[in-house]
Amino acid sequence: MTDSHVLEDKSHFRGVWVFLEHRKQGLRDVSVQLIGEGRRLADLRATTLTGVLLGNGVDDLAKHAIGYGLDRVIVINDPILEIYRSRPYAQVMAQLIRRHKPEIVLYGASKNGRDLGGRLHAILETGLAADCVKFDIDAEGNLDMIRPSFGGKSLAHILCKKHRPQMASVRRNVFVAPPHDPKRTGEVVPETVELGPSDVDATLEEFQEFTKEGGLRPEEADVVVSGGYGLGDPGHFVMLQELADLLGGAIAASRKAVDSGWVPKMLQVGQTGMTVRPKLYVAVGISGAVQHLAGMQESKKIVVINIDPKAPLFEIADYGIVGDLFEVVPEMVRQLKALKGGETGARTAVPATAR
Ligand SMILES: Cc1cc2nc3c(=O)[nH]c(=O)nc-3n(C[C@H](O)[C@H](O)[C@H](O)COP(=O)(O)OP(=O)(O)OC[C@H]3O[C@@H](n4cnc5c(N)ncnc54)[C@H](O)[C@@H]3O)c2cc1C
Repeated sequence: MTDSHVLEDKSHFRGVWVFLEHRKQGLRDVSVQLIGEGRRLADLRATTLTGVLLGNGVDDLAKHAIGYGLDRVIVINDPILEIYRSRPYAQVMAQLIRRHKPEIVLYGASKNGRDLGGRLHAILETGLAADCVKFDIDAEGNLDMIRPSFGGKSLAHILCKKHRPQMASVRRNVFVAPPHDPKRTGEVVPETVELGPSDVDATLEEFQEFTKEGGLRPEEADVVVSGGYGLGDPGHFVMLQELADLLGGAIAASRKAVDSGWVPKMLQVGQTGMTVRPKLYVAVGISGAVQHLAGMQESKKIVVINIDPKAPLFEIADYGIVGDLFEVVPEMVRQLKALKGGETGARTAVPATAR
């Protein structure tokens, strides 16, 4: 970025914006989570919180979104915006940002959010801090964008002092979703933006629903059963799937299991995978590298099954089972089945040392 683009006067830029992603007439959970954090930042800056919703026929969704804490939602309805496409979405967002001059714009670090934020920082010649885990406001009123660095071993504070807007992306489940208040009032602001055939860079030939094994996404599940390199073989994930099914959850994995080609990348938890925040995270044969912790340590209850009592993951476990996963997991499955079948399920103890 050249100094010719440095802003002399930033006072024209006011307000916090959240780019709202949606699917099947519902907001993506990362967008809801961002509304909660956006609200906090807008209050700190004594300014308004605006959601930006692009789509076709999304007025009702805009009204619903206000209930999460927005002051207003800017809506653009256009058939070209029916589904996310890079160029039209970037064109529309760039025009809106130039028109309204928000000081902060937040995106979910989803595939689409990453694509959009990356394009916009180039179009608008401003900064973008990716994968932030925390925000603050410094003494001069700049957004302090905090993200892991050096493989998660330290946190970097990124400031965008000379350019506006300040833009950041956040992965899902980093922030907690705010409750929905159906009585909350706010403004739905319909706007128009010039869009022509030259703004369309791709045509939709076919839409295939993206579902994961078992149908449940780990990011959305209350229970996640996650497998690591200790499983030793891809076939053993069947055992974890069975446990996950019994607990009404989804399976996930460490990067080493993914890099070994045992499960798809989309199941990877951690710094370079997804962040999960389930009620229960069961880690099976995972050692507990910092990069893995980065994606699951906010889980409400953590159960660790590992044969090595010195495995670092035990340090953050609520319940630790030192034992061979090939004994512990089948026993858990057996006892859960017994419980579901109305038996006590306490016929034999888990052959492991409970910590
Ligand atoms: C830049 C960078 C980004 C990274 N991003 C990620 C990321 O997003 N997610 C991630 O997970 N990792 C990530 N990693 C890799 C990370 O550093 C670790 O290498 C990885 O998490 C280790 O995976 P693991 O715990 O499955 O394997 P290991 O570390 O090999 O651990 C296997 C565990 O299984 C246990 N075990 C073995 N046999 C049994 C048995 N029979 N019963 C019970 N336990 C058993 C062992 O005691 C051991 O603790 C990243 C690394 C780098 C450098």
